[in-house]
Amino acid sequence: MIRADLLVSNIGELATLARGSVPRTGESMRDLGLMHDATLAVAGGRFVFVGPKRRARSEVRLRTGGMHWDADGGVVVPGFVDAHTHLLFAGDRSAEVELKIEGSTYRDIAQRGGGLFSTVRATRRASSSELLRLAEARLHRMVQGGTTSVEVKSGYALNHAGELRLLSLIPRLARRTGMRLVPTYLGGHAVPPEFVGRSDAYVDLMIRQTLPVVARRRLAKFCDVFCEPGFFSARQSERLLRAAAGLGLGIKIHAEEFVLSGGARVAARLGARSADHLLAAQTGDRVALARAGVTAVLLPVTPFASMSRQRAPGRELVDAGVSVALGSDLSPNSWVESMSVVLSHAIYGGRLLPSEALTAATVNAAHASGLEDVAGQIAVGRSADFSIFDLPGVAHLGYRVGAFPTHISRQGNTISLR
Ligand code: ZN
Repeated sequence: MIRADLLVSNIGELATLARGSVPRTGESMRDLGLMHDATLAVAGGRFVFVGPKRRARSEVRLRTGGMHWDADGGVVVPGFVDAHTHLLFAGDRSAEVELKIEGSTYRDIAQRGGGLFSTVRATRRASSSELLRLAEARLHRMVQGGTTSVEVKSGYALNHAGELRLLSLIPRLARRTGMRLVPTYLGGHAVPPEFVGRSDAYVDLMIRQTLPVVARRRLAKFCDVFCEPGFFSARQSERLLRAAAGLGLGIKIHAEEFVLSGGARVAARLGARSADHLLAAQTGDRVALARAGVTAVLLPVTPFASMSRQRAPGRELVDAGVSVALGSDLSPNSWVESMSVVLSHAIYGGRLLPSEALTAATVNAAHASGLEDVAGQIAVGRSADFSIFDLPGVAHLGYRVGAFPTHISRQGNTISLR
């Protein structure tokens, strides 16, 4: 007999995402591993039973004092994995909405010292306890939207000590929130004001001074860089990422967000874990990513929040055979904390099918974050990360904009919002 701490019964539709190889590409992105009239059980923070109601009756017992959730015919999905965030920042950029409406672009605003640089100033000034308080509140709202794992980038300090400080806050946040956080070093988010006109010298500094410490102290799992004219060239990005890979870090790249910058080709050449954004990627880039097995992380809220005419090329990437994952790109520029809003933008803007969007937000996002063995799937033995939505079927996720779960479990820690 299986003893459970938590029993979830009466699940109308359970999307396990537990069939097939990882990451999913092409038609396999539509296979959600669905079960109907299912029950699941959790003990010690892990799934101990996932199966039909009838079998659960004879095989599972809730231990005394255990918790029972009635899903009431609703939907259960794996906890969302947000594969791309800039969670750690101080201040806000609400004043930029007006500038965007007047026609200023992200680059225009940044080049005038606003945008990203105003966030750098606010973040450098903020105390660690203030940064922790702000990020913790964001994570609480994210988990209430069904997100249980989050990739978190540094990148708003743009100096040695400041970037190390940001990375050192991430494990503290994970402990405080019970969420699974994946730290990424993004010292190459922009050329810092102190290095204007000397971007190569800043790349040297990252390679010689910061990256070795990040690797030695295991402060980050990945290194990322913003490859874009006015930020870092494809040549500089490749130099930085090669150094990071040489130190054992995984690599990611912000590629082709505004214009074709060559970042996708760098990702393909280096076998990066992911290439992110890709709004301006061309057919040849998509082919190169598919061949190299690089996951495309799409951030479909960003063009919306940037008032850009571009849209996330979800359909094109899936049709080209690229594995597609999703992230919020949570930042002061595109402040979105709910992955179900991201799903809606992936569907209506990126033209992913709802099933593809769910795959992209779970199993493929886990792969993009190096969490393929622990997150993004509901199966016996895996960490109990899941949410219950009061919806008649999984096809309603994303189709309805901004659906919120009624119950959430991250690593077996439960939240009931009903
Ligand atoms: Zn980003």
